[in-house]
Amino acid sequence: MSYDPENIFAKILKGEIPSEKLYEDEDTYVFMDIMPRADGHCLVIPKTPARNMLDATPDQLAACLATVQKMGHAVMKAFDAEGVTVQQFNEAAGGQEVFHLHYHVLPRHKGLSLRAPGQMADFDVLKSHAEKIRAAL
Ligand code: 5GP
Repeated sequence: MSYDPENIFAKILKGEIPSEKLYEDEDTYVFMDIMPRADGHCLVIPKTPARNMLDATPDQLAACLATVQKMGHAVMKAFDAEGVTVQQFNEAAGGQEVFHLHYHVLPRHKGLSLRAPGQMADFDVLKSHAEKIRAAL
């Protein structure tokens, strides 16, 4: 399977589709998931093309994981969370829907399950959550 340069996250990187940006460095970009499964659910992506973990380079994976760790601390601080879940899916059979490598970072509280997938965020709420995370970085 090859990389489709017109996938939605590639369009976000090119600025063709808006995103609620939280952080970026030379190699990675972080933004809010528009269908958050927990308050503070964000996505870490490499700035260079990779369909998923299976075709990514070791450098892309290393850069993403360093940013995932940084965002894990930030979302825990922003939401006073007790833990963080990191998810990463590969190919449709593995649960992947957008074919640009990404890591989900989800702050977690004991006894609180993730929300069902596919529920669009209220954009004012999403923005206020993003502000909290940016302040925690
Ligand atoms: P996955 O490919 O790991 O199954 O999930 C893709 C994720 O991208 C989902 O959590 C979905 O909510 C999120 N998503 C899909 N389209 C957009 C978009 O246009 N903007 C943002 N910010 N997130 C998106």
